[in-house]
Amino acid sequence: METISCNLCGSNVSIPYIEVKDRFTKELFHVVCCSNCKLIYLNPRPNKEHLQNYYPQQYEPHHVPLTDSGKWHQHRMRQIQLDYVEKYHLHRGTLLDIGCATGEFLAAASERGWLVKGIELVEDAAQIARSTYGFSVVTGEVEMVLTENNTFDVITLWDVFEHLTNPRQVLQQCFTALKPEGKLVIAIPNLDSFDRYLFGKDWVGWEVPRHLYFFSKDTLIHILDDTGFNLLGEECLVGGKGVFQISLASKFQGSSFARLINKISPIILATLWPYRQFAYHLNKGPVITYMAQKRLL
Ligand SMILES: [Zn+2]
Repeated sequence: METISCNLCGSNVSIPYIEVKDRFTKELFHVVCCSNCKLIYLNPRPNKEHLQNYYPQQYEPHHVPLTDSGKWHQHRMRQIQLDYVEKYHLHRGTLLDIGCATGEFLAAASERGWLVKGIELVEDAAQIARSTYGFSVVTGEVEMVLTENNTFDVITLWDVFEHLTNPRQVLQQCFTALKPEGKLVIAIPNLDSFDRYLFGKDWVGWEVPRHLYFFSKDTLIHILDDTGFNLLGEECLVGGKGVFQISLASKFQGSSFARLINKISPIILATLWPYRQFAYHLNKGPVITYMAQKRLL
């Protein structure tokens, strides 16, 4: 384990914020809040070389959907994400997806005419993206492999930012890699979501120790401003149903209701459709997407 200072302001002074158990190992982790800038982060946290041990076989984001409905849902999700990108960036130019996994978002963007590139930490996933679609996908830690200068119109980080060990450094590299007025898209767990208050410690947005940072709108604007970006907009786009199900399963894990909840979860999810729509409408969905723009020097 390593003890770290605040990634946003550098302070070493923090107060306990919440204690959360890893839903796979049941190990208890401490989330703290910086006394100076209010950034919420995991501290102490596993060393870089040990972090990968906390991604078990059954970790959901590492699985490509196999059913037709799963594939349809993923396709629809990609189109919603692209519509959001194109709402702010009308010209289809060059796009980099950081944490591109097996390349589904890149494929959707490429189909619409974007020139795409990916960065992916997991070699097996990157290899699938290369062999299935023929895309250029670099494997490695983003801090090590993002070396471009003035190259991309858009950089996207879908559900990746909260996993980064040094988000400030990555934003600085994104600033360099983007063209002037290039767009940066960051989708992260929404600290302000209804789900967070409904599920408390069992909210999947905590997801320790895989999630290392928990940015509020204020702390995100702060770090974006420090690294040369202006916030243009925010919207709850996707991610409601699946993450609600994981939070629900965590909440009842180990209890006598667990089996029943698991069995009837499709009914619960269908019943809660109005809840999710209402939450999305108010930007209180479990995942929120922020659109930022590189400032002109
Ligand atoms: Zn701080």
